[in-house]
Amino acid sequence: MSYQNLYLQESGKIMKLVESDKPNAKLFGVPFDSTSSFRVGSKFAPHEIRVAFNNLEIYSRIFDVNLEKYYIEDLGDVSASCDARVVSKQVSNLWKELITKEVPICMLGGEHSISYGSISALPEDVGIVVFDAHLDLREELNGSDFTHDTFLRRLLEIVDRRRFIHVGSRAACAQEWEYVKEKDLRIIEQDCYKATVLSKNNFFRKYKNIYVSVDMDVFDPAFAPGIGNPEPCGLSPKDFLDFLRNLRGNRIVGFDIVEVCPPYDNGNTSILAAKLILEILSYCHLMKH
Ligand code: MN
Ligand code: MN
Repeated sequence: MSYQNLYLQESGKIMKLVESDKPNAKLFGVPFDSTSSFRVGSKFAPHEIRVAFNNLEIYSRIFDVNLEKYYIEDLGDVSASCDARVVSKQVSNLWKELITKEVPICMLGGEHSISYGSISALPEDVGIVVFDAHLDLREELNGSDFTHDTFLRRLLEIVDRRRFIHVGSRAACAQEWEYVKEKDLRIIEQDCYKATVLSKNNFFRKYKNIYVSVDMDVFDPAFAPGIGNPEPCGLSPKDFLDFLRNLRGNRIVGFDIVEVCPPYDNGNTSILAAKLILEILSYCHLMKH
């Protein structure tokens, strides 16, 4: 299949899939890390996460779904510009073309600024769940206003704040916490992100369709060491899987997995990212029946 926004280039693709006319999910990578402020290298993550996925058992025991019978259409990687706003526009155009509530879309970063592109392209009835150790709400970072650390602030200038819920935050500057208070943003901090608390939030009753953005630094560095800006005292993988298990009823129309930084990884972060793809897609499959 060809797409109008042909920024896509071939790269190492997901191997474990059943070819058919009708994909069960679509996936693409965005190898972009130009605004990274600390450890650079997330542009290598789409490739490494695919390699990890190709070496996992892809039967979800949690959801009892066999992804070996599942066609994940791997579209390759976006030929990303070196300008963050241009990349976001590329992503946004592609996302608008791909988005359907029937087939979940998976985007592999790259740094978190790419999520501006996907989230700004979503229909208004889609709620947005952001998992991140950081708030990414700075007004600017080192003189730039469009970076991986400011993208959510830019989004809140164009998207209704009530469509967001932010989970796992534990690292931000005073200005960002003031902004949270001023705008009355829905923030789930440490100890409140347990699935039993999270799933009771009205947000998940209001928004049947959701988009999930996973900045991998939401996990504790013990589980995910290969990260651009690691931050101690984070979620465990089990916390995230409990969240998924408690989500029954919500449809995940799309998700992204960002900020994996392979040059600083021992392999565990890419494997965890691949595991999340497996479990999120299995959850999506269950929701279709
Ligand atoms: Mn982030
Ligand atoms: Mn972060």
